[in-house]
Amino acid sequence: MKKPILSLITFFIVSSLSFTSCQTPYEITQDEVTRVVSTLASDEMEGRMIFTPGIEKASQFIQEEFKKAGLEYLEEMDSYNQQFNIYSIAPESMAATLNGKAIDAADMMAMSNSEGFDWTNVADLNVRTIGAKDNFQSAYNEIRRGTGKNLVLVNPAHKDIFNRYKGFSSRGSRVVALDPDNATVMVISDLTAVSSVDIEVQNTVTTQSLSNVTGKITGNRTNEIVLFGAHYDHLGIREGMEGDNLFNGANDDASGTTAVIELAKYFAASGKKPERTIVFVAFTAEESGGYGSRHFSEQLNPDEIVAMFNIEMIGKGAKEGPNTAWITGFEKSSFGKLLQDAVEGTEYTFYPDPYPTQNLFYRSDNATLARLGVPAHSISTTQIDIDQDYHKASDEVSTLDMAHMTNTIKAIAKAAEGMISGEQTPTRVDPTGLR
Ligand SMILES: [Zn+2]
Repeated sequence: MKKPILSLITFFIVSSLSFTSCQTPYEITQDEVTRVVSTLASDEMEGRMIFTPGIEKASQFIQEEFKKAGLEYLEEMDSYNQQFNIYSIAPESMAATLNGKAIDAADMMAMSNSEGFDWTNVADLNVRTIGAKDNFQSAYNEIRRGTGKNLVLVNPAHKDIFNRYKGFSSRGSRVVALDPDNATVMVISDLTAVSSVDIEVQNTVTTQSLSNVTGKITGNRTNEIVLFGAHYDHLGIREGMEGDNLFNGANDDASGTTAVIELAKYFAASGKKPERTIVFVAFTAEESGGYGSRHFSEQLNPDEIVAMFNIEMIGKGAKEGPNTAWITGFEKSSFGKLLQDAVEGTEYTFYPDPYPTQNLFYRSDNATLARLGVPAHSISTTQIDIDQDYHKASDEVSTLDMAHMTNTIKAIAKAAEGMISGEQTPTRVDPTGLR
């Protein structure tokens, strides 16, 4: 009697195992691509501007799609929501007395990423000068790159350019971390040295939160990552604008975000563990300073990212014709060449970016990772030189070519196979050659 029961158990084990390994492959279809991109670019998402309910809805939607795909959370996270703080710093008041003489507030500007400071004859103050014959701009840039407490005495000959910079600095700034140890105060003054200093600066700091949406498929090699990313934020609603003032951002970059979602479903459904780990990210705040990719890049070791596919504006046909896409920074690593080789013999082709003067390599989230050495490139298909909808309210779903978009996502899936299987590894980007 025992034997048949055992073989019955064996049968169940074998059949349940074979069930998981025979998971239905996911097909990237035009219907599904249309559904996802239309949802992200719908008026309900209000143009996905940071700090609005619209982008929150978009984040919720992407999280639901990642869940449907069956993605895992990133290390040490308990959701797909990669939340972080950003600090808006607005100057409130400033006063300075140098050598016992008060400085007019109009002749003073302060740059600091904190709630303010009080320098009364501080010992570690660096006093510098910008003389009448010095180049203000290069001196300014050098000082801003430095650290510590800096007081800069600017010769009155530079008053005009000083006022322009003061105009910019009075608008405030946004930072991802407060930094009370480093600050620069510039004053217009004939002085070239100071014996006594009393400077007080106060800022209003507003803390707000931003979120990337992240997920992964753990591979056999947990410390080798292939990354797919696109930004899901856009420009929102422009108050006071005539006519349509809702910037849907269908092409920029609901199209790329759709690709990330579809690739997540595609790779997760393959049923077998990939060799390399695959990470998917929808970045926030690309349009407002790149804070999302900056925060993301600090949460993991960039040396472990083997390649980054940053997908930007793939909703419209490229210059080289149907079934083509272009890659920014083509010469900076072997990433583009590997993609070209991977789709050879198919109807799809990848080209180097045909608009090098537009510096597109530096204009999206890939640049943040490339500066850390990651072969991180943007893939796009939009004719940026003649596109009538770029950063316009007319960037709507009706302008997209869904068949082209679907083909492009499929081509990216095919092109990434060798990197995910570990057979292909692009060369690293040399960060010293980058801006
Ligand atoms: Zn974009």
